[in-house]
This record gives sequence, structure tokens and C-alpha cells, in this order.
Amino acid sequence: MATGVIWLGAALQTVLAQGRDPGANAAAAMGCLGCGGTLFMLVVILALDIALLVWVARDAKSRGMDNAVLWMVLVMCTSVVGLIIYLLSRPQGTLVVCPHCSNKRLQASAKCPHCGNA
Ligand SMILES: [Zn+2]
Repeated sequence: MATGVIWLGAALQTVLAQGRDPGANAAAAMGCLGCGGTLFMLVVILALDIALLVWVARDAKSRGMDNAVLWMVLVMCTSVVGLIIYLLSRPQGTLVVCPHCSNKRLQASAKCPHCGNA
């Protein structure tokens, strides 16, 4: 009986000791994950931002807007607000693939803004 109590005590101690350590490890892991997660989020946001700017510049060029770079800078500085302004003020219409240079161009445009072909 006495052996059983000692064994139980030892087992309990082991569990308690183990319970403490994984807890500390988990906390450390969570902290590291939180840090890495924030960094990851920053990288994702930055990548999306760059992708958005590239898209705006390409879209503006495809729609025959001369100030594509200006729009890109505006969206870069004002983010979502600039994007909404751009979406509202850009020439509306369907973009089609130019048969001459395979870039996107407005269906209604007289000539391709990329290669100048009609
Ligand atoms: Zn073209």
C-alpha cells in the first residue's frame, strides 16, 4: 500500500513537472508565433500593396490613361481611398486582349495604348 502511495506521489510529481514545462514552452512558442505571424502579416500586406500598385499602373495603361504612374502614386499614398477614386474615375469599359501585342486594351478604344494598332 505504502509503495502505491509513493508511486502515485512520484507519478503526480512527474505530471506536475511535465505540466509546467510544456506550458512554458507553449507560451514561448506562442510568443514566437505571434512575432512571426506579425512579420508574416506585414510581408503579406506589403506584397498585396505592391501587387495592387502594379495592377493599378497596368490597368490605367491598358485604359489609355497617360498618368498611370500618377495614379499609382496616388493609390500608394492614400491606399483604399485612392483606389476608390481611381476605380470611379478611370475610363469604364471592357478590357480585351490586343491581337497585335497581347496586352489588355479597352474594347471601345480607337487604338491600342500599348502598340498603337487599331
Ligand atoms: Zn496592342
